Amino acid sequence: MISNADYRVTEGYGMLEEQQMKPERKEEEKTCHDCGVREGEIHHYGCDMERCPFCQGQLISCGCCYEKLNIDCSPGTWTYNNGLTEKESRRWVSILVEKGRIPYIRWPVLCSYCGKLWPEFFFVPDEEWEKYISLAHREDVVCEPCYNHIKKVIDGG
Ligand SMILES: [Zn+2]
Ligand SMILES: [Zn+2]
Ligand SMILES: [Zn+2]
Repeated sequence: MISNADYRVTEGYGMLEEQQMKPERKEEEKTCHDCGVREGEIHHYGCDMERCPFCQGQLISCGCCYEKLNIDCSPGTWTYNNGLTEKESRRWVSILVEKGRIPYIRWPVLCSYCGKLWPEFFFVPDEEWEKYISLAHREDVVCEPCYNHIKKVIDGG
C-alpha cells in the first residue's frame, strides 16, 4: 500500500529528478533493446526481436530460411552445424526484403493477470510454470506478485 506520505518529496528535488529521468527513459522505450533501431525501422539482421514475415516466429530461430533456400539442415549436415554461409544469408535477406521485413514496433508487455505495464522479469523453472499456469496462458507474461498469488490460491485451494 502506498500512501501520499511516501510521495512527499521537496518540490525542487522532485522536479530535478523528473527532468533527469524522463528523456532517458523515453529514448530507451522507443528503441529495440537488442539492436537499437527506432520504432518503424527494420531490425539489424540477426536481432533476436525480429519476426519472420513467413511464420511470424522469431526470425533467428525459425526454420524458414532453410525451407525457402532449399537447404537441408537435418542433423549431421554441414548447415546443421554451421548455419547459413554468408552467401546464403545474403540470399535469405533478399527473400525477406522481397516478402517485406517486419519493422520494430514497441508493443507493450503487460502482465496478463493484473495488466501492469513492463513487469520486471523473474525466473520460474519450466516445470513450476507448467504446473501453475494453464496451457492457454503459457505464452503470456505474468508479473511476480501475480504469479505468487496464482501459486498461493492453487496450492491453498
Ligand atoms: Zn532489433
Ligand atoms: Zn519463419
Ligand atoms: Zn500482475
